[in-house]
Amino acid sequence: MFKALVLDQVDGKTVSEIKTLNVSDLPNEDVLIEVDYSSINFKDGLAITGSGKIVHKFPMVPGIDLVGTVLASESSQFSVGEKVIMTGWSVGERFWGGLSQQARMKAEWLVPLPEGMAPKTAMAIGTAGLTAMLCVMALEEGGVTPDKGTVVVSGAAGGVGSVAVALLARLGYEVAAITGREETAPYLKELGAKHILTREEMSESPRPLEKQRWSGAIDTVGDVILSRILAEMDYSGTVAACGLAGGYKLPTTVMPFILRNVRLQGVDSVMCPYERRSQAWQRLQNELPEQLIGEIGQVISLEEVPEYADKIIKGQVQGRTIVDLKK
Ligand code: NAP
Repeated sequence: MFKALVLDQVDGKTVSEIKTLNVSDLPNEDVLIEVDYSSINFKDGLAITGSGKIVHKFPMVPGIDLVGTVLASESSQFSVGEKVIMTGWSVGERFWGGLSQQARMKAEWLVPLPEGMAPKTAMAIGTAGLTAMLCVMALEEGGVTPDKGTVVVSGAAGGVGSVAVALLARLGYEVAAITGREETAPYLKELGAKHILTREEMSESPRPLEKQRWSGAIDTVGDVILSRILAEMDYSGTVAACGLAGGYKLPTTVMPFILRNVRLQGVDSVMCPYERRSQAWQRLQNELPEQLIGEIGQVISLEEVPEYADKIIKGQVQGRTIVDLKK
């Protein structure tokens, strides 16, 4: 028997409860995992609080991320005792997820934990960190190199934003961080941001083209901030857009694209193919200093998850929240 957070619907509202489950309660997938850690992402916040239509069927065990040890495997890809990571693939939305001491997953969703990476580090990274790395790779593929100028990151004190700032700084880029929380400035500077911009100043509706400021951008918030970033991009700059924490709309014009050769590259981590996913995890292992991971991640218990799900939706969480399932 083991503990899991279970979501259900009561009178049309989502409720969460910690329940005791048996292995036989788990979905019939090919790899049984003892979960060490999960994490809380913005999407988990939407699912657990019921504030977004994330969950496709109830009851649901949420948790879009996990790291753990294979307990049993019907797949030749993974053997008992191996450490594995799962992020994305609509787990915690359509399939039971990682906020559980045991989970059954499809082998094709799993990647091996990179050699030398601690399980806790994997969840300090999680979906948010993987997405940040995929955004950095998108900028590189768009020709954004450190010598080209400053790269701006929005939602900088959040999960994706924090890892993006740390990665870019580590790779030698000059980083500008946009935050709505002035008090996070020392933290963002610690991660490597050179300039701090307020959400307020970046929320002013832009003209179709503004003064050129950014060689690259990682946007996690969408809406007016993304439209301002686009209007302020340097000639031939690239924007990697991955989030909608500020809204799903994009009030922009074609001007940055047709007059400044700007590239807007969407980034998705959920269905990211195995090769690119493994490459991104390996780069995270090589390029993210362990000490910075300590700065970014805070550890909570399964019991504290509903409280933190609420906080992440309200934009009150700094960095990454790791859930310890070994207790
Ligand atoms: P998070 O930890 O909650 O970070 C989001 C940050 O956005 C907040 O910390 C806040 O940063 C900023 N923010 C919040 N509300 C805002 C508003 N109304 N206007 C402007 N900025 C606002 O969430 P996350 O896990 O990093 O995810 C960030 C976004 O990326 C979410 O939309 C998530 O769904 C998306 N995402 C997408 C993928 C993908 O595969 N495409 C993967 C992971 C996440 P400050 O306090 O610094 O202002």
